[in-house]
Amino acid sequence: MNMYLNSELETLERKDLEKIQLERLQKTVLRAYESEFYRARLHRANVHPEDIQSIEDIKKIPFTTKDDLRKAYPYGMLAVDKKQIIRIHASSGTTGTPTVIFHTRHDLDAWTELVARSLYMAGMRDSDVFQNMMTYGLFTGGLGLHYGAEQLGMMVIPASSGNTRRQVQLMQDFHTTAVHITPSYALHLGDDVENYNVKDPRDLGLKFAVMGAEPYSEAVTRKIEERFGLAAFNCYGLSEMNGPAVAFECPAKNGLHVWEDNYFAEIIDPVSTEVLGDGQKGELVLTTLNREGMPILRYRTKDLTTMSREKCSCGRTHARIERILGRADDMMIIGGVNVFPSQIEHVLMEIPEVGSNYQIILRKKGYLDKLHVNVEINEKFFAGDISWLHTLQKKIEKELKSALLVTATVNLVEPGVIPPSMGKAQRVVDERNL
Ligand code: ADP
Ligand code: ZN
Repeated sequence: MNMYLNSELETLERKDLEKIQLERLQKTVLRAYESEFYRARLHRANVHPEDIQSIEDIKKIPFTTKDDLRKAYPYGMLAVDKKQIIRIHASSGTTGTPTVIFHTRHDLDAWTELVARSLYMAGMRDSDVFQNMMTYGLFTGGLGLHYGAEQLGMMVIPASSGNTRRQVQLMQDFHTTAVHITPSYALHLGDDVENYNVKDPRDLGLKFAVMGAEPYSEAVTRKIEERFGLAAFNCYGLSEMNGPAVAFECPAKNGLHVWEDNYFAEIIDPVSTEVLGDGQKGELVLTTLNREGMPILRYRTKDLTTMSREKCSCGRTHARIERILGRADDMMIIGGVNVFPSQIEHVLMEIPEVGSNYQIILRKKGYLDKLHVNVEINEKFFAGDISWLHTLQKKIEKELKSALLVTATVNLVEPGVIPPSMGKAQRVVDERNL
């Protein structure tokens, strides 16, 4: 039986891999020049397509940040005629200006191939039944995995997230063998199946779990594997780089292979931005090498990890990153959804009855993430009749939900109760234990 879906590409000698990378990087820079954003950015940095003569020359290219994507919204980074675009996705951050990614048919085909390659690497085959329990829509977790799983020829159940009863029913009726799920939901499901007349999670007969969208530990992986009697694979991605399957764990379980024919990966020091060597912990920076609709150069993911270019025992030559070790910024991942403290602040500060202090507390209820926000009431309003407080609380909860897509429990407090903030870090108390 073949171990690789695309044996030639997956096992290329490094020098051949780098040759492909250089060709694709040159093409990518050329394409980037077609977008309003990069034309100005590269011109200002005095970088021209002909300046890229070796992959080392990527260092001449300035970094791209999430903020750049926000500022370029909606069409500033589009690099082809809009007619060629067949789908968009958006990142989960919703307050303020969103970010958008454009895909041509070529882009979606390339992404689909990477997903299929990854699932095959984990051991899934066309005889498997794949239940995709990630949200469909602008999020990339749903549709991204969906097309790759179909490409492999599996029977795909586009279950989307939520509704445990229905998920369990589908698993039982169609004998699901593989799931795509967030680790926190998998832990929750392990306990919850009892309520749906499943005595032991192992009775569900699952063989594979693809888990991503949020950071988790090795211990959580083992726990899930143990409870369900399956093999779990870490899947890393971000919408700016298409979405899931930028990097994927192989059966050697010694890191996640970054598909280097499609992405150029660097690790930098997040402060000095100096490029670091193998084994050194830093921020992952990624460049699309095979995207037409919206090339992105040297994107600062803010995800912290290490990288190794040593050949893996599985035979693949593509570099490996360690599981994500943390973030170089203050982004929180709550139930798989990205939330910045600034988004919460933005919502609160628009409400006149809210004072100037607030505190964000992250907790676990069972295995699920819970967001609590302590909100100080504006002194001006805090006098006499305070029967409207309940209405205010509900109003803040509703506005947070619509801005963040995450449910928050708001606790209103008297002015002066929350100690004045000495900086952002103290605004967030993360009591979750990964
Ligand atoms: P998603 O819809 O998958 O959350 P986003 O683009 O909204 O995609 O979020 C991407 C971010 O999610 C990454 O930058 C990273 O911080 C986090 N993430 C995704 N997959 C993983 C993973 N396997 N392990 C740790 N963090 C992850
Ligand atoms: Zn490997």
